[in-house]
Amino acid sequence: MLHGPGDLRVEEVAEPQGEVLVTVERATACATDVKALLHGHLILGPYPARFGHETVGVREDTGERVLVGDSVACGACPPCAAGHTQLCTQMTWVLGGFAERIAAPAAALHAVPDGLHPAGAAMAEPLAAAVHAVARAGPGIDAAVLGGGTMGLMLARLLVLDGRDVTLCDRHPQRRAQAESFGARAVQRLGRHEVVMEAVGRPESWRAAIDAARPHATVVFVGGCPSGCEVTLPSGPLHYAELDVRGAFHHTPAEMDRALGLLAAGDVDWRAIEGETIGLHDLRDALLRPTAGEARKLVVDPRVG
Ligand SMILES: [Zn+2]
Ligand SMILES: [Zn+2]
Repeated sequence: MLHGPGDLRVEEVAEPQGEVLVTVERATACATDVKALLHGHLILGPYPARFGHETVGVREDTGERVLVGDSVACGACPPCAAGHTQLCTQMTWVLGGFAERIAAPAAALHAVPDGLHPAGAAMAEPLAAAVHAVARAGPGIDAAVLGGGTMGLMLARLLVLDGRDVTLCDRHPQRRAQAESFGARAVQRLGRHEVVMEAVGRPESWRAAIDAARPHATVVFVGGCPSGCEVTLPSGPLHYAELDVRGAFHHTPAEMDRALGLLAAGDVDWRAIEGETIGLHDLRDALLRPTAGEARKLVVDPRVG
């Protein structure tokens, strides 16, 4: 339970209440969880709050292994009516994967393909967001990804699968090696590209993404901004180059199923970005540990000590 910024406690709580009870097998972690731990997050409930949004487990009613989707759109608000359910203004968030059990609406659950490990299946949540972001990219063959964290690596892999010529930029040599294993070229500085996907989430990186765009390029901002960042785009030069600057947020249920299929088929090698498996008691320290070297997703197994 998150009791406030930086205050994460492992404690016995009442059974979660909801339509379907799921016994958690694995929940993976990402930068959003670090942000939620340190600064709170607008999708968190009031403190004390459950968190963890990349969750796989077993339905207690049917015994089926499911991915617990982290959201259910209302289906009725203006963005939902227009088919943009990822932008729902009345979204029900389903958080609490860092626990032994989670309760979820049946509509949030996705069947996990046979043979896909629960840690890999949990990565379908961020991979679905990458699927969504790549669908926002323009048609250019020459595509660049700025940032080689796990999201940047997933974006690079999807662009490679899409038949593009992919360059990933990161200052860490280990992440550049991971990008190469995913079929991308890895560099320390980008040239100019037809598609630029930004997966860092900082103002200086937004600027670098625009600087790496050719005229008529598409720039997609994928990286979430740590709290306190202001969105300040340079208005002058942007229109000269006629860029389309696009944001990409979240995913749809169909994108989640596509992500599960990619992981089950081995098209995205989740083992290459799988990190340490830890128990709940080690979660706080692990989330706060500085990240360096390879990009790897932390895996929580609530049954570990
Ligand atoms: Zn995440
Ligand atoms: Zn809605």
